Amino acid sequence: MGKDIIKQWGFPLDNIFLAAGPCSAESEQQVLETAHALTEKGVGFFRAGIWKPRTRPGSFEGVGLKGLAWMDRARSETGLKIGTEVAEPSHVEACLEYGLDVLWVGARTTTNPFSVQAIADALRGTDVPVFVKNPMSADTGLWVGAIERLANAGLTKLGAIHRGVSSALEMRYRNAPAWKMPIELMRLMPEVPIICDPSHICGKASLIATIAQEAMDLLFDGLMVEVHPDPPSALSDAAQQLTPAQFVSMVADLELPHEQS
Ligand code: PEP
Ligand code: MN
Repeated sequence: MGKDIIKQWGFPLDNIFLAAGPCSAESEQQVLETAHALTEKGVGFFRAGIWKPRTRPGSFEGVGLKGLAWMDRARSETGLKIGTEVAEPSHVEACLEYGLDVLWVGARTTTNPFSVQAIADALRGTDVPVFVKNPMSADTGLWVGAIERLANAGLTKLGAIHRGVSSALEMRYRNAPAWKMPIELMRLMPEVPIICDPSHICGKASLIATIAQEAMDLLFDGLMVEVHPDPPSALSDAAQQLTPAQFVSMVADLELPHEQS
């Protein structure tokens, strides 16, 4: 099972592997408050975006380097492992300096093989766990290819994150779940653990529990969920973030298939 592989990488997990935290690190206070609220809640790693690749210019593009110091402090105060998105080699270098426990490649980056290769080259010689989000479009080949580029650079702790695909046609979800795509990845790369990101699929908090349950029913190994102490005031993805209390109750209500309990 993929979740046993993740456990071997040193992440705490109970029945489900959980990554949780704000879409973006916004201030030291917000990072620390969220991390403390997620302590001892079965969270495998605390997530926060430091560099935010926004679709359109002019929106909040992340706090940059100083956010890593805030996350580092959150880690030492709470014992949580910490992870962020990397989109270029300079991000990788900064994260390696701070000893981040896990990195992920975002959907916009997975779309570009040159960017993925540059990240893989910057990680060569390390064995940091890296999760790869599916690309914006329903192209499983790009997703597999990105994981292969990292594997070819010598990385062995590789996982996948399903975050849905951009669609002009589907209105219910921000990014259509397109479940065939992660199922194809499971078939092509059975050794790669896969978690679901219901936050970016749904785009709104009220839909998250349903998509999270579907992911559990499809035997995903875990979830990555956006959690913010005050979602309406969030500088990015305000509509889809859960409060820490909503996150805890959503997870408690999940029904796990027999194989996973
Ligand atoms: C994120 O995780 O905050 C993010 C930007 O996600 P994605 O790359 O899936 O759009
Ligand atoms: Mn987000």
